[in-house]
Amino acid sequence: MNELYQPIETLPGVGEKRAQKYKKLGIETPYDLLFHFPRAYIDYTSPVMIAEAENGEPVAVRCTVKQKLTPSFVRRGFSLYRVVVSDGISEMVLVFYNTPYTYQAMKPGEEYFVYGKLSGGFLRREMQAPQVQRVQNALLLQPVYPQTTGLTSAMMRTNVQRALQYLDGQPFETLPDQMRTDYQLVSLKQALHDVHRPETQEALDKARRRLAFEELLQFQLGTLMLRHRTDVQNASAMHPADLSAFYAGLPFSLTKAQQHAIEVICRDLCASRPMNRLLQGDVGSGKTVVAAAAAAFAAESGFQTVLMAPTEILAQQHLQTMTAFLEPIGIHPVLLTGSTKAKEKRSIKAQIASGSAQVIIGTHAVIQKDIEFCSLGLVITDEQHRFGVAQRAALAEKGGYPHKLVMSATPIPRTLALIIYGDLDITILDEMPKGRLPIKTFAVTGGYRERAYGFIKEHLDAGEQAYLVCPMIEESDALENVQAAETYAETLKTGAFSAYRVGLLHGRMKPQEKEAAMAAMKAHELDLLVCTTVVEVGVDVPNATLILIENADRFGLAQLHQLRGRVGRGQVQSYCILVTDSRQEDARERLKVMSRTANGFAIAEEDLKLRGPGDFFGRAQHGMPPLMQAAFCSNMPLVSETQMAAKSLLEQDPELRSPALSSLRTAVLQLFAKNGENGLN
Ligand code: ADP
Ligand code: MG
Repeated sequence: MNELYQPIETLPGVGEKRAQKYKKLGIETPYDLLFHFPRAYIDYTSPVMIAEAENGEPVAVRCTVKQKLTPSFVRRGFSLYRVVVSDGISEMVLVFYNTPYTYQAMKPGEEYFVYGKLSGGFLRREMQAPQVQRVQNALLLQPVYPQTTGLTSAMMRTNVQRALQYLDGQPFETLPDQMRTDYQLVSLKQALHDVHRPETQEALDKARRRLAFEELLQFQLGTLMLRHRTDVQNASAMHPADLSAFYAGLPFSLTKAQQHAIEVICRDLCASRPMNRLLQGDVGSGKTVVAAAAAAFAAESGFQTVLMAPTEILAQQHLQTMTAFLEPIGIHPVLLTGSTKAKEKRSIKAQIASGSAQVIIGTHAVIQKDIEFCSLGLVITDEQHRFGVAQRAALAEKGGYPHKLVMSATPIPRTLALIIYGDLDITILDEMPKGRLPIKTFAVTGGYRERAYGFIKEHLDAGEQAYLVCPMIEESDALENVQAAETYAETLKTGAFSAYRVGLLHGRMKPQEKEAAMAAMKAHELDLLVCTTVVEVGVDVPNATLILIENADRFGLAQLHQLRGRVGRGQVQSYCILVTDSRQEDARERLKVMSRTANGFAIAEEDLKLRGPGDFFGRAQHGMPPLMQAAFCSNMPLVSETQMAAKSLLEQDPELRSPALSSLRTAVLQLFAKNGENGLN
């Protein structure tokens, strides 16, 4: 039996209780524990002298215990444990509150590394609640783990050390030797050891590089395998067609970016290799008309187009706009959703089967079921923000191999898009239609809330509408956030906005309830919609001109940008008010970026710089594993290296069937299977 894959409680030092805590973190086995990487390291490699240390900055000091002062019990439930230490020149006092353990363990005359913030003056300096380790067997780069209540980094370090012993004497390598030589990668064993117990910064860097390489490689192998499976299929090659009648019927002229996208897509449609393209464009960049052009092009060649939307209300909205674009050239889109009446459904299905319906719009669920097409040539998916690996895998598996176009409104920096969407070709609409009024964005403190409410009321009185995004409680579960939203809505309804029609929208509502709330907003049966972040991307309420976002500092910039995109869709000036009471410099700096720029891609780049790629890989947005290593590496050359490595591996062995690659293959399949039942297999 391999101890690595036994339940975590079999690891010496892990009891029942601690095992439960580990399971909360998704750690079921010693193996999982080894892949739970530190989020940071405390650096003891260059300790400072006490006299040189600045107050308030965390520092490491190497010192000897001079004296342990008698514990003082200040009041009930509050005791102080103090130790006087010296670095050979000056002294300071280490102060521990209520926790005797470290104090008890420290021995006079013995040398320690301590880490913490100093306070106090020239005569008496103190370090409060420091981290302490004996110099004798110190880790100079001491790992700090992502934690959960009741599990400290110290506990994890001990458990990890024990788990590392399990690696001794077993083969434990996933990458081919040749690849490790070519890309100068340390062995997996070495990497796991050094990421948890690095002896030097160099060893740590090498370990991270190896682990990041592997994570990226697995991901790229997965996306390339998906891609390969479609590439070898045959799609219907369409004939070049003249779209001038379509263009003539449009109420506006296209942006350069739109023209370019249409050209690229039409070229793809004329090939027999199925198109697999992602059309990325900020909210309002005009993706729908591009979809309409592609549908018109397909229709000219005698092919049907399907446009799938994630919700019923979006499908209806698409029907309206697509009809406006396509009717002038004699194409009449049909709609098929869950609420289409049986009789009508029969007639529409007949039209689809006979080919008289050329463009079919509907919700995913409905269109994927039992519809028979006459000549399906193009499938367009409007995924809005919900577009992850699982959906892509599902798309790739759908029979018939029509051309595929996916529209997404989440701007992602190019560098990351290359990784996340490695299986797709990408086209970006990076230009807004002319004449759009930029949304005026302000960041204010909570002290301005009443004034902001007053400002909103003025606009509601003028017949406009507004969104209020609720405070989000960090680190609390979804239920608490729902309760907070309900309370917030109730307070507004009975208080500041009692004279207005106030609606509520949150994540725990049923899909129909959510749609009803959005529909009411769209029909102007509500003045104000109180919502959590679920407010449906993509639903167009041109009359909504104001959005106020509470606790704005808790959101990533990209997410704020998405939320802001709910307004600014009509002819009237729109406003976005970001409320924050954060005193943190960088939080306010981030919000200023929002006031300065309206370009989603620029904001995404900024987010990448400020917060690292974590947000973009976050499960919520892309259904992807966090690629932790890549996150703390954020090393882009590695991306192209792994891409090369993945390509050459697949050239030799397209399905990774060779025995030497079996553990890599398993890892890739797991990675994609985790994200939905429709992964690779
Ligand atoms: P999104 O990319 O968010 O899906 P839409 O396709 O809904 O954007 O377009 C947003 C609005 O802009 C629609 O009202 C659409 O008719 C309009 N629009 C699209 N392209 C142009 C253009 N080139 N000039 C002016 N208005 C445009
Ligand atoms: Mg849209």
